[in-house]
Amino acid sequence: MMLHDVSWPNDEDLRRGLVTWLDTLPGASWLTVPGQDSNRHRVVVTLLHGNEPSGVKALWHFVQNPPECAVTTHFCLANVKAARYDKPFTTRHFDDKPDMNRCFGKTGEDDSYGVAAEIMARITDLKPEAVVDLHNTSGSSPSFSVSIVDDEKHQQIASLFTERMLCTSVRLGALMEQTTDQSPIVTVECGGAADHAAHEVAQNGLHHFLTAENIFVNHGDFRPLDLLYHPVRVQLKKGLELCYHDRKVDDADLTLPLDIDRHNFGCMAADSMIGWLGEKGLDAMITNDGGGGHPIYALFYEHDGELRLKHASKLFMITTKHHIALSDCLFYMVVD
Ligand SMILES: [Zn+2]
Repeated sequence: MMLHDVSWPNDEDLRRGLVTWLDTLPGASWLTVPGQDSNRHRVVVTLLHGNEPSGVKALWHFVQNPPECAVTTHFCLANVKAARYDKPFTTRHFDDKPDMNRCFGKTGEDDSYGVAAEIMARITDLKPEAVVDLHNTSGSSPSFSVSIVDDEKHQQIASLFTERMLCTSVRLGALMEQTTDQSPIVTVECGGAADHAAHEVAQNGLHHFLTAENIFVNHGDFRPLDLLYHPVRVQLKKGLELCYHDRKVDDADLTLPLDIDRHNFGCMAADSMIGWLGEKGLDAMITNDGGGGHPIYALFYEHDGELRLKHASKLFMITTKHHIALSDCLFYMVVD
């Protein structure tokens, strides 16, 4: 057993605070809260990434202000050990461990695969009517949701939290890739881990998710979603040099502006400058749209050493954290 049933925090835990409570947990944790209809279930997963605190901060808010849950509600805190390591909420995953949100539907030696499998076993067993997986982006960003299915159920879950939904074909081993018609699973990126607005997105969205009798009717809060299809994941090739600077850095294979994350979800015109390329030019970068399309040359061109957009595009999940940009990706994009 790698996923532990733990009880709802008590008054003493509340007084000591969230981080102290996390320190008392045995590791990956599962909390169950009774609701009005005990035959139905909803699941909230968060902390698959230890440096993304909005979901667990919202949980802490509900510990202080217990909501009337409409159905039996389960909270899963996944990578508790990374979350509380060193300065709390700064470690995405330990260096010698895989990214926990890349372990679903996969097998491997590490415990992280076991935790992912146990989370899926619970979901399969409970048949929850909805599952939401709360994350933060590492750069500053507006909120958005991610789904591999763009049907009404997935959209309605997403719309409780945000106005945007990415429908992706990229497969990485994320929890939301395990979605089914019976138990739809949606990822919500609440916004930047340091953005106060992101904590509100998690808290407000969860309030609806916990209390709505039926989340699949067009409630008063339903906002039509801005749907973005087939995002392309853009990476620097392995072993190459990435820098963040306000001008080209010699020897770097790619230099990106320090404030590139201000473009998150903004519409960028064709020919916009994204950064500076090195000797390898565009060959330094690779793309993945899950279908073998959108090669790098279809999206960008080089002009006097500058990396420029071929078409009007939207960029998102732009990070300015060097290690995350290299280990995960530089950003995602869709061509307008
Ligand atoms: Zn995440």
